[in-house]
Amino acid sequence: MNHDSTTQYEPLRQAVRHYVTEEVIPLEREHGLTWNIAPPKDLRRKVRLRAKELGLYAPEMPEAVGGAGLPFLGRCIMEMELHSHDTVFFEDVLGGGGGPTPILLAGTRAQQDRFLAPLMAGETTTCFALSEPDAGSDASNLRTRAVPAEGGFVVDGTKNIVSNGPQADFGIVFAMAMGADGPAGVTALLIDSTAPGYDNSRSHTCMGFTGFQGEIALIDVRVGADAVLGEVGRGFALAMDWINANRIRTAAMATGIARRALARSSAYAMQRRQFGAPIASFQAIQLKLAEMATELYAAESIVTRSAWMKDEGQDIRQVSAMTKLYASEMVNRHAYEAVQIHGGIGCLEETGIERIYRMVRILTILEGTSEMMRLTVADRLLKAAPR
Ligand SMILES: Cc1cc2nc3c(=O)[nH]c(=O)nc-3n(C[C@H](O)[C@H](O)[C@H](O)COP(=O)(O)OP(=O)(O)OC[C@H]3O[C@@H](n4cnc5c(N)ncnc54)[C@H](O)[C@@H]3O)c2cc1C
Repeated sequence: MNHDSTTQYEPLRQAVRHYVTEEVIPLEREHGLTWNIAPPKDLRRKVRLRAKELGLYAPEMPEAVGGAGLPFLGRCIMEMELHSHDTVFFEDVLGGGGGPTPILLAGTRAQQDRFLAPLMAGETTTCFALSEPDAGSDASNLRTRAVPAEGGFVVDGTKNIVSNGPQADFGIVFAMAMGADGPAGVTALLIDSTAPGYDNSRSHTCMGFTGFQGEIALIDVRVGADAVLGEVGRGFALAMDWINANRIRTAAMATGIARRALARSSAYAMQRRQFGAPIASFQAIQLKLAEMATELYAAESIVTRSAWMKDEGQDIRQVSAMTKLYASEMVNRHAYEAVQIHGGIGCLEETGIERIYRMVRILTILEGTSEMMRLTVADRLLKAAPR
C-alpha cells in the first residue's frame, strides 16, 4: 500500500464534502429536521437520487449491477469524509444501512432484477434482519423459523433493533430453514415488507437516532422458494462475510465522527476564554487534544490499511474486528473529551457535541460488541499460536 492508494480518492472525498455541505445540510435545515427522529422517506429518497446523479451512491458496488466498481478503500475514505459532517441523512448519501449491499450479489438474476436494481437506483431501501430478542451476540441461535410448505416456506419469528427496519421496502431476513441448529441451519430470505404477516410498524426509541431502528414481527409469512438468497443453510456465511467488511465501514464512520469531535474541540478551545486566556493555552486542554489527534491518526491508518487488505482479497476476519474495536472505543473516548472541553455547553443540544456523545455509544455494540471483537481477535490469534 503506498501513498497514492489514498490520494487518488481525493476528488471523490471533495465531492462528498461538497454535496453534504452545499445540498444535504441545507435541505435538512429547510425542513427543520433534527436528530431526534429519522428523516422522512421521501426526503431520504431525494438525497439518494441526487447522490446517484453525482456518482456518489453505492460506489463500491460492481459496475455490472450499476455501481462504480470502486475499491472498498475508496468507499471508506468517502465514509470518513461523510461522517466528519453532521447530517441526519448519513445513511443515504453513500448508501449505508438500508442501501445496496454486496450480500445481494449472491442472488439469482431474477432476485437482482427485483430487489437489487431498484436499490441501486436509489428508489428503495432494505434492512439486514438477523438479531432477535434472544439472539444477539449468539447470532446463529435464531428462533425465527422458515418451515417448508407448498413450494416455499412459512416464516414465523421476531427480529429486533433492525436498522432501517421501519422504512425498508424489503428485508433480508435470517431464519432457520433446516433441521440443523446453529450456523448450518441459517438461511437468508428476501421478504417484501408488504407481504401479509410482515409487520415493521414498531420502531424503537434508540439512543442517538430515534425511529431508524425497529422490530419486525413475522407471523405466518408465506414466501416462495425463490425468496432464498444463495442456498438454504448458507445464510450465516453470507451474513458474516458482509459483517466482516461492514465492521471496517463502521470503523470509518467512527473515525469520521472523531474528526468532527476533534475539529470542533480545537476550534472551541481557541475561541473560549477563561482566566483571561483561551482555554487552548492551558496544558490540560492541549494534552487532551494531542491524545485525540494521535488516536485519530491511528484509527485513520488502520481503517485505510484494513480496507486495502479487503481489496487485496486478504483474510480480514481478524483485522476487521481489531479495526472496529479500536475505532469505536476511540470515538467514545473522544466524545467524552469533546464534551469535557466544551464544558457546560457541550451538554446542550445546540452545539452538536452532546449528539456526538449519544450517537457514538451504539458503535461499540452494533455489528458485534467490543467484547465479541476481542474474542474474535483472540480466537484467530490463538489458532495461529504454536502448540
Ligand atoms: C443502533 C443499533 C443498530 C442495530 N442494527 C442492527 C441491524 O441492522 N440488524 C441486526 O440484525 N441487528 C442490529 N443490531 C443488533 C446488534 O447486532 C446487537 O445488539 C449486538 O450484536 C449485541 O447483541 P445483544 O444486544 O443481544 O447483546 P448480548 O449478546 O445480549 O450481550 C450483552 C452483553 O454480554 C456480552 N457478551 C455476550 N456474549 C458474550 C461472550 N460470549 N463473552 C463475553 N461477553 C459476552 C456482550 O458483549 C454485551 O456486553 C443493532 C443494534 C444497535 C444498538
